[in-house]
Amino acid sequence: MTYNMEEWMRQLETSVNTIEKLQKYVRVSPEEEKGIEEAGKGDIRWGTTPYFASLMDPDDPNCPIRRQVIPSVLETVNRYGVENYLQWKENRLTDEERPECIARQYQDRIAFLVTDVCAMYCRHCFRKELVVVRGLRFRFDIEEGLQWIREHREVRDVLITGGDPFVLSDDKIAYLIAKLREIPHVEMIRFGTRTPIVLPQRITPALMKVLSGYHRVPIWINTQCNHPREITEQTAKAVYDLMTCGINVGNQAVLLKGINDDKVTFKALHQTLLSVRIRPYYLFYCEPAPGIDHFRTPVEKGAELIRDAIRGHTTGLAQPMYVVATSIGKIMLMPYYSYVEKTEDEYKLRNYKGEITTLPNTPE
Ligand SMILES: *Cc1c(COP(=O)(O)O)cnc(C)c1O
Ligand code: SF4
Repeated sequence: MTYNMEEWMRQLETSVNTIEKLQKYVRVSPEEEKGIEEAGKGDIRWGTTPYFASLMDPDDPNCPIRRQVIPSVLETVNRYGVENYLQWKENRLTDEERPECIARQYQDRIAFLVTDVCAMYCRHCFRKELVVVRGLRFRFDIEEGLQWIREHREVRDVLITGGDPFVLSDDKIAYLIAKLREIPHVEMIRFGTRTPIVLPQRITPALMKVLSGYHRVPIWINTQCNHPREITEQTAKAVYDLMTCGINVGNQAVLLKGINDDKVTFKALHQTLLSVRIRPYYLFYCEPAPGIDHFRTPVEKGAELIRDAIRGHTTGLAQPMYVVATSIGKIMLMPYYSYVEKTEDEYKLRNYKGEITTLPNTPE
């Protein structure tokens, strides 16, 4: 088989997931070595593609890519994380009967989990209990999920996620899209996939054929990029190819302590995304899943970064919505400084620099 294996499959087959393989890319620090050893004891998944590993700084253990990929002993600490986080967060303990592959927080849209495999196992993953630690084992029964969607006419928007749905074969992805498009009440299909960032080789001509074409039901993609260093010429090409299929590519960044929580990096991240045609969508507060305390900042941090590095400092196209995902849906955490005062005649409004202006109040 290997003689005609596609490059993206080769990348997955040769995942950098042992200390020996990692040593080909970086000088592994004693702390990293301990983290890897600890992960081995717990049968905890880690690793990334050779492509993504090649972007690591060989000498700096604080490299933003190394910190997202290499396990840390800090993952065994859980002071602030919520136990059974995923069950709580995805409303899996409610009365509504739902297949395990369906997560629901809203009336008109759902998350459809189709696999627990990823091209990279992010240390900060909020689905860690399912994807990384594998204490939970869901049934990823695609037929069961499709049938549930058919029976729920209020669902107009299906977000296919996992794991990473783009690790599935072209045939499986084509099947999912075709079956969803047959359902009259499905108006849009979304994929959450980190492949444009960690495995851009996945966007092959064959996959493009599966995704392309004008259709009643459009496809949208959101990826995850947390640091400008993750973006390369290959990312640019993959995103461009997706756009030629009629697909918009957005970004869902996670605010990560020591990785993207300073003004310079934060602004560079959002500007670099635009330079490869990725539109920032969400900035997520790092969720209280177990074992990721060390990635979390105070909640206010994201709003401060938007005020001090994005709004007014660069184009509004670069601005993500800052949210925290909770069991009652995503909650907006945007900077709150605009309204100073409202009188009968006017509003007093404040900008990102603290300057004040007025706007006439037009009564209803
Ligand atoms: C995030 C999420 C969605 C999609 O939300 P949008 O704000 O529309 O992107 C849908 N269902 C679940 C369960 C989610 O967590
Ligand atoms: S790609 Fe997504 S699902 Fe997979 S480990 Fe990273 S954050 Fe979790």
